[in-house]
Amino acid sequence: MQHYDVIIIGAGLAGASLGYLLQKQGKTTFIIERADLNKKDKLCGGLLTKRSFKLFRKNFDQNNILPFRKFQNFTVKTRRAATTIRHDFYSISRKQLDDYLVSLYPEAGGTIFSPIKTYSLNLHKRIVTTEGGTPFSYDTLIGADGIHSKLRTILTGRSQRKNFALETQLPTNTSAELVIHFLDDLKGYAWHIPNNEHLMLGLGDVSEKTNLRPRFDQFLATQNCHSKNLRGAFLPTGNDIFLGKGNVFLIGDAAGLASPIFGEGIYYAFVSSIALAKALDPKTSSFNSETSCHANHNSESASHNHAAKTYRALMLPYINRLKREHHLKKFIFNAKLNQFVFRNYHLSLIKPFVDRFVAKYL
Ligand SMILES: Cc1cc2nc3c(=O)[nH]c(=O)nc-3n(C[C@H](O)[C@H](O)[C@H](O)COP(=O)(O)OP(=O)(O)OC[C@H]3O[C@@H](n4cnc5c(N)ncnc54)[C@H](O)[C@@H]3O)c2cc1C
Repeated sequence: MQHYDVIIIGAGLAGASLGYLLQKQGKTTFIIERADLNKKDKLCGGLLTKRSFKLFRKNFDQNNILPFRKFQNFTVKTRRAATTIRHDFYSISRKQLDDYLVSLYPEAGGTIFSPIKTYSLNLHKRIVTTEGGTPFSYDTLIGADGIHSKLRTILTGRSQRKNFALETQLPTNTSAELVIHFLDDLKGYAWHIPNNEHLMLGLGDVSEKTNLRPRFDQFLATQNCHSKNLRGAFLPTGNDIFLGKGNVFLIGDAAGLASPIFGEGIYYAFVSSIALAKALDPKTSSFNSETSCHANHNSESASHNHAAKTYRALMLPYINRLKREHHLKKFIFNAKLNQFVFRNYHLSLIKPFVDRFVAKYL
């Protein structure tokens, strides 16, 4: 049976970026991906905050290959008012971003098995068997299998809490403005994100509602467009985080990592893959198996415990930030409070607070 140091389930942003980093460390890895890589097209606004963009460029695109579109400000609109906030953002077609990261992994010597519709798992013996019946053994297993993570469900016995969003992609893009719309009756917001290829229009709600269609149609009408290519998808709520158990680790959406307010998940896919790569790297890890007085098996499980502790420690500041955002969310999307603020104060009066909030959280 072929043995790998690490097997990763899912070749999305989190899985492909982690695979690339682990290959560079000299680990033997492979990725199992359910979708056909040529057709894979994740529903996403493709918007990166400044910190997300910097992290991506530093770790995965030092030669500036990807054609991001840069915005130096964005407009916040309510039904009655609009204000512009200075802050850098970057947009890209999500397919381009995924395809690029997926292309880095084989360049670093990794192999992606796709499309693999199903696999079976023996956690005790550490064996993954693909649908063709081929078994592979591993030391470490990674769940990068997105919001509906099967691996997470196996480990926790339940699926994670989710929010729902709708989005459409318009082929032509004449618009230059990046806009976030706060709609009176929505616990969430709508977005208008142009990238170099398309205009992405979407709407998300943090109250775990899924019947957003009528509201989205109204929003599209205000934007003078109608779309037949409407798609819906779930994203993490940000308050149901689970990083793994034993020698199984979760990253990205599978771990429940996304901003409860903004739905920003790309940043957390990168943050978690970089943190886990560090935690699994013997060079940066202070654990030295030769100094362990236990037998081989114990030393391996001690090394996993150490990696788990390091991964948790590296993720802790981000988890704390997501917790704070979760508390703030209750105020930001409180309909009565919003109506009061927007009715009684012009947006320009609350702009300094919005500026500070954006600078701190984005
Ligand atoms: C409508 C919408 C708009 C969004 N817009 C933004 C945005 O503008 N900016 C932002 O920062 N975030 C945004 N997000 C969030 C962001 O898209 C996610 O957080 C991000 O894609 C997470 O990456 P991931 O690699 O963890 O998961 P994914 O990108 O979902 O990748 C998971 C991969 O695992 C594969 N997989 C799943 N199950 C299996 C299995 N059983 N076996 C093998 N493979 C499997 C999938 O096919 C997929 O390739 C948005 C989300 C939604 C829903």
